[in-house]
Amino acid sequence: MSDKKEFKAESKRLLDLMINSIYTHKEIFLRELISNASDASDKLYYKALQENISGFSREDMAINLIADKENRTLTIADEGIGMNKEELEEHLGTIANSGSFEFKNALEKGVSDVDIIGQFGVGFYSAFMVADEVDVYSKKYGEDKGYLWKSDTSDGYTIEEAEKATHGTTIVLHLKKDTEEEDYSKYLDQYEIERLVKKYSDYVHYPIKMDVTTSRKKEDSDEYEDVVENKTLNSQVPLWKRQKKDITKEEYDEFYKAKFNDFEAPQRVMHNTVEGAVSYTSLLFIPSKTPMNYYSQDYKKGLQLYSRGVFIMDHAEDLVPEHFRFVKGLVDSQDLNLNISREMLQHDRKMKVMANKIEKRIQTELENMLKDDRDEYVTFFKNFGMQLKFGIYNSYGMLKDKLQNLLMFYSSDKKELITLKEYVEAMPEDQKEIYFASGETVEKCDLLPQVESVKSKGYDVLYMTDNVDEFCLQMMRDYDSKTFKNVTQGDLDLETEDEKKELEQKTEDNKPLLEIVKKALGDKVQDVKLSHRLKSHPVCLASGDGVSFEMEKVLNQMPD
Ligand code: ADP
Ligand code: MG
Repeated sequence: MSDKKEFKAESKRLLDLMINSIYTHKEIFLRELISNASDASDKLYYKALQENISGFSREDMAINLIADKENRTLTIADEGIGMNKEELEEHLGTIANSGSFEFKNALEKGVSDVDIIGQFGVGFYSAFMVADEVDVYSKKYGEDKGYLWKSDTSDGYTIEEAEKATHGTTIVLHLKKDTEEEDYSKYLDQYEIERLVKKYSDYVHYPIKMDVTTSRKKEDSDEYEDVVENKTLNSQVPLWKRQKKDITKEEYDEFYKAKFNDFEAPQRVMHNTVEGAVSYTSLLFIPSKTPMNYYSQDYKKGLQLYSRGVFIMDHAEDLVPEHFRFVKGLVDSQDLNLNISREMLQHDRKMKVMANKIEKRIQTELENMLKDDRDEYVTFFKNFGMQLKFGIYNSYGMLKDKLQNLLMFYSSDKKELITLKEYVEAMPEDQKEIYFASGETVEKCDLLPQVESVKSKGYDVLYMTDNVDEFCLQMMRDYDSKTFKNVTQGDLDLETEDEKKELEQKTEDNKPLLEIVKKALGDKVQDVKLSHRLKSHPVCLASGDGVSFEMEKVLNQMPD
């Protein structure tokens, strides 16, 4: 008995894309399925440790691959936690993972490029890039019944009860027919499978096993014979446990892409082993692009947490501070208790020690990047600089000392991003304050009459084009004892004594005119004044000392 069920709408679209995929990296399906098998084994192993269930050793929880040339199937079987009927439905019938969420958002934004799937960790559904039918046999640990989930089209799937002797999940891929462009048979080839496992899944800490046939010389004879042996294909040493000097950039890149669902190699890799009161290894990455969901609710910050190589949790939030929330990665410590819960972690002293060191590590990395590789830093800052400004703002300036030298703003002189330190160093001797202008874009700032006037004095003006900019400056108040001065706000006090006198005289002379203008504008303005601020422009608006025009705009946009 089985009813056909429909996939949820987004899942169906994702599947359609997979089925018709002309994506060139189809081979990643194996990485995705093995990673799911490994996750499922982790979940069971962790449960066994927590509940003191004996008889579980990691070496026993193998992931088995079976290539059946006759039936044209490739099987991936694990002995992990398994799924019951509801879970099969929930996890395989709907888009669940974070990568798929982004994918969904991209679809909603109207991205139609088929190659886009390469940018997401699309997980289970990637099986449909190489298979036209996928059978999933699963039995949940501790439950009696096994089930078969089956789908051969994007229309839907069926679930029925099925015999399964052991707990865990067995996925059978019925490979597509070969076409002129695509050779699917290669996924049955033992060398190809071994290559893929080495490339993508070498560090998986369960043995990935397969029967391989080798030709061996017979004893006492010159003849050769084929021997089949069950071989473990992966080395199982987690990447982060290996010596830094032995790890290639490509290995780091592949590891990052596979583990953190990114299409691009990371911009920076930080791999450190720390010995001390709390010993741990951290492997941290700065992505080379802003993740698509970065500024949405979907984005989860935090690092993966391991204890002696055993996975404890995803997104341990307390390990990275909010202002570095763009950092992805993992931490493995031998000093943590496996039974630790999320709530306990928040108060755990060892976690705090690690979090502090990790924060410092990231801070140093960014400082060095700025010092040694400015172009790279500018790229970083364009991706994530906003986060640093929010950091200062949200901390009410408490993070000023830590972050102020990492900030960059657009300089109207240099026509590129510069640091505050660079601004101050370039200041002429008579300049006392740091001038800035705000506007939606650099072009709009360029057009401000007041900018022109300040620049004519030989002073550079920084442009604040992000909503958060002015709020950040307000929290900082000053830099290097020089206050920030908005060129459109209050009195700039740029005039010489003579100029001031002259202005007073002119104001006196033109009093009737000014009064007429003020009357005509009525409530729209507070006052009408003659000014030295103007060079080529006839008039300008200036705000009082409190909230600037741009801040007023931002505040008006905020929900109450
Ligand atoms: P992700 O792994 O990022 O969550 P996937 O699409 O790869 O996304 O898998 C979706 C979900 O299906 C998983 O989160 C998991 O709950 C379930 N799942 C997939 N494969 C297995 C498996 N071999 N054993 C148990 N559960 C699995
Ligand atoms: Mg997955």
